[in-house]
Amino acid sequence: MDNHRNQDSYKDDTLVLHGDKEWAEKEGAVSPAIYYSSAFMAKDSAEFAENASKPRPSRYYTRYGNPGHDRVNAILAELEGTETALVTGSGMGAISTTLLSLLSAGDHVIAQTRHYMSTTKIMDEMLPRFGVETTVVEQADISAFEKAIQPNTKIIMVETPANPTLVVTDLEAVVNLAKSRGILVVADNTFASPVNQRPHDFGVDVVIHSATKYLGGHHDLTAGVVCTNHELAERIWDTHLSIGSVLSPMDAWLLLRGLRTLPLRMERINANALALAKYLEEQPQVEKVYYPGLESHPQHDLAKQQMKGFGAVIAFSVKGDYVDTQKFVSKLNLTTNAVSLGGVDSLVVHTAAMWEGALSEEQMKTAGIPSNFVRFSVGLEHIDDLKSDVLLALKEI
Ligand SMILES: *Cc1c(COP(=O)(O)O)cnc(C)c1O
Repeated sequence: MDNHRNQDSYKDDTLVLHGDKEWAEKEGAVSPAIYYSSAFMAKDSAEFAENASKPRPSRYYTRYGNPGHDRVNAILAELEGTETALVTGSGMGAISTTLLSLLSAGDHVIAQTRHYMSTTKIMDEMLPRFGVETTVVEQADISAFEKAIQPNTKIIMVETPANPTLVVTDLEAVVNLAKSRGILVVADNTFASPVNQRPHDFGVDVVIHSATKYLGGHHDLTAGVVCTNHELAERIWDTHLSIGSVLSPMDAWLLLRGLRTLPLRMERINANALALAKYLEEQPQVEKVYYPGLESHPQHDLAKQQMKGFGAVIAFSVKGDYVDTQKFVSKLNLTTNAVSLGGVDSLVVHTAAMWEGALSEEQMKTAGIPSNFVRFSVGLEHIDDLKSDVLLALKEI
């Protein structure tokens, strides 16, 4: 069964609850069933033959699809405003499957200097091994995208906002460059969430999420999703069968449960993060705060144009060295020292500590990661408690 955009008139808050209604009605249960089955029975040989040959059957073999996937896909396609969606076993599964299905040897890809670390690895190391040329450009500079275009450019990959300093990419401008030349635009929308930003509204062809972050929202699952049109989704699904980045039925169920509260969580997360970012800017121990919702963000106007809210992630530098920054992070009581973002709990990472094993000091400088840099993912705690927790820890510097 395919997704239908039949709930067009619903707002996000309603469609996360009712966007999968047709499955609920069929199952006759208020809470969704979990189809813990790797294979599905056909009524007769004609149905078996049909399922075996049709694209994206939902009752054939779970690598092909599972009724739990369908429900999640229906909601995610509507949230992103695309024709359809395809859930995968992780965000990286979604990104690698998409790139491997749309690219061939001899093609060229333009990407950003700053992407999620594993995406950068795909661009720098993996694609070149398969004869795909890649060029990375400064994402805030639209002329850099234009200059990088070659006759064999097939994809422009963007991610906005992006780690570590929440730089924003102008989606509309990138789409304008790509469209007239027949180049596909792929956007990693993880840091924004579909509540805050809908790249397809600007003409982006493929919108990808790590559903591990906001979409699941409870730090309990790993998943990804590709939102696009039917034609591209079928091509990507065809490769997905070979790559095998399949979402487990349990994780699909958890993702569905997480999605029910996505708009509600985003409302609180957006408010909390903006308030905390402003508060941090006022503290004498803080050197600089990076958050697209702040007027001090160099691209605040662009962020306001293409985003409805600015998300959970705040980056900031404290006035101190590596050791002071470690001290600050360790003195936080409410905020868990862990990677990831966009869930119910506030999480904090001392960025330099995260990368010091993998990168040299020089590489960290080029990547824009000074030793006093902190990444904060704001959760659903009360803002007053978050402020006092941060204030106490800052006093330790
Ligand atoms: C986490 C993340 C990914 C990777 O997602 P996984 O679910 O961990 O595979 C990709 N892009 C961004 C921006 C992310 O934050």
